[in-house]
Amino acid sequence: MKKVGIMGGTFDPIHNGHLVLAEQIRTQFNLEKVIFIPAGIPPHKQELNITSSKHRYFMTLLATITNPHFEVSKIEIAEEKISYTINTIKKLKETFDSNTEMFFITGADALYELETWKNIEELLKLCNFIAATRPGIDEKKLRDKIDYLNKIYNAQIIVTSVPALAISSTDIRERIRHRKSIKYIVPESVEYYIYKNKLYI
Ligand code: NAP
Repeated sequence: MKKVGIMGGTFDPIHNGHLVLAEQIRTQFNLEKVIFIPAGIPPHKQELNITSSKHRYFMTLLATITNPHFEVSKIEIAEEKISYTINTIKKLKETFDSNTEMFFITGADALYELETWKNIEELLKLCNFIAATRPGIDEKKLRDKIDYLNKIYNAQIIVTSVPALAISSTDIRERIRHRKSIKYIVPESVEYYIYKNKLYI
């Protein structure tokens, strides 16, 4: 079996926590590659003011360019529709060999809303889920949620803890708004891109 990681996120902006996580999971689970997929219009953020998909895509490209095992896909941002993960996974599946196993990587917080995702039952059959926790989360609450989801949907949701995820996109946007440094929190290329395009001010 070939194994591929699918790193789904809004990436507003992408940061070193995302990159450390993707690389850690790639080696831990022996993944051939990790495909970063910036969300077009994330289903739960339609009302929110998120940065244009063009900027989020370019930042993701810049951040991943030095890792030969990382790729970036335009699959969601190319469509001006809401990006449902089920549609993305089905489309990707068509491009892979039949012996490719997919691992969808996302933040553990997403698990609390997972049951509201479109066709979740089918999605959990099509790909494995890896949920990354941040330091300071309620581990008991998360464990209970995962046990519940695994049981109800006969799923295989895996949890991994990543200290580097103490970084968050929300915190980075706040820092920029308050003129605080974001050096070493995002790749240098992304830092320059943000300042050059006056994002998050
Ligand atoms: P979010 O609600 O912005 O993020 C939830 C938490 O997870 C945040 O703390 C976020 O931190 C973190 N996170 C997000 N993506 C991550 C990743 N790949 N690795 C590690 N941490 C991550 O979630 P989102 O980014 O908008 O959505 C995550 C993915 O779920 C996207 O691919 C989205 O399309 C998908 N989704 C699908 C449906 C559906 O199909 N119905 C519904 C909701 C979400 P940062 O802000 O620091 O990243």
